[in-house]
Amino acid sequence: MHTSDPVLSLENLTVAYGHANAITDVSLRVAPGETLALIGPNGAGKTTLLRSVMNQERKSSGRIRLCGRDVSTVRTARLVRAGIVHVPEGRHIVAPLTVQENLQLAAAAAHRCPRREIRESVAMVYELFSPLVRLRNKPAGLLSGGEQQMVAIGRALVARPIVLLLDEPSMGLAPVMVETIYTFLAQQRELLGGVAIILAEQSRIALDVADRAAVLSGGRVVFEGSSSELDDSTIAAAYLGKAQASVAD
Ligand code: ATP
Repeated sequence: MHTSDPVLSLENLTVAYGHANAITDVSLRVAPGETLALIGPNGAGKTTLLRSVMNQERKSSGRIRLCGRDVSTVRTARLVRAGIVHVPEGRHIVAPLTVQENLQLAAAAAHRCPRREIRESVAMVYELFSPLVRLRNKPAGLLSGGEQQMVAIGRALVARPIVLLLDEPSMGLAPVMVETIYTFLAQQRELLGGVAIILAEQSRIALDVADRAAVLSGGRVVFEGSSSELDDSTIAAAYLGKAQASVAD
């Protein structure tokens, strides 16, 4: 159980594309050290929600608070420096740069990092994702999808986040790589300490490593509670409801 105050909270968030709401009146919170699974079918609004936390989508209404402070209008780069780091869907790495350069660049971009800390952060990533050690001098664009996902998550970790937003990290990966990523997610608490994670996935896989879960359907939260309380019928209803839950509200 996590009784501490939320590190990140979303309050009555609505985001529209034109006249259609992509998410409507979403309120969620995540506490330090807690993992919140955000489950929902294709088009439910997961990506929009995570992008709006990073201020990459214009909010029609609602607020985002980081450690109680309203950061709704803070620019993305400053949010990263404040400790919210986003790993978007689709593994954003700098393809021509080596694995090592990708990690160093991310550490430098996060600032608050003297050279020694950058070295330590990068070393930590190699410890967490040992398959990257032998690939350190290889251009990241030549790695497999799973290896690139490790680099993408590694880049987020070197920024020493207090909130980590992961958008469908299992998407398009071979099962063995999904297992590697999820092994890390299962162990991250001992490895990283108190980072709060919002983990968006289309399937229930995220529930295996989550403390709490929220289900999005048609841009609305239709369930929020402990992941063990989330039954298959609630998930199925969210997926079946997709057809009638148009994004237009
Ligand atoms: P997926 O699992 O496919 O990534 P998702 O749950 O992340 O889906 P979003 O990508 O957030 O869902 O999409 C939510 C809704 O907003 C969808 O109906 C989508 O078509 C719409 N949408 C997303 N991005 C835009 C955009 N740039 N312009 C217009 N509509 C958009």
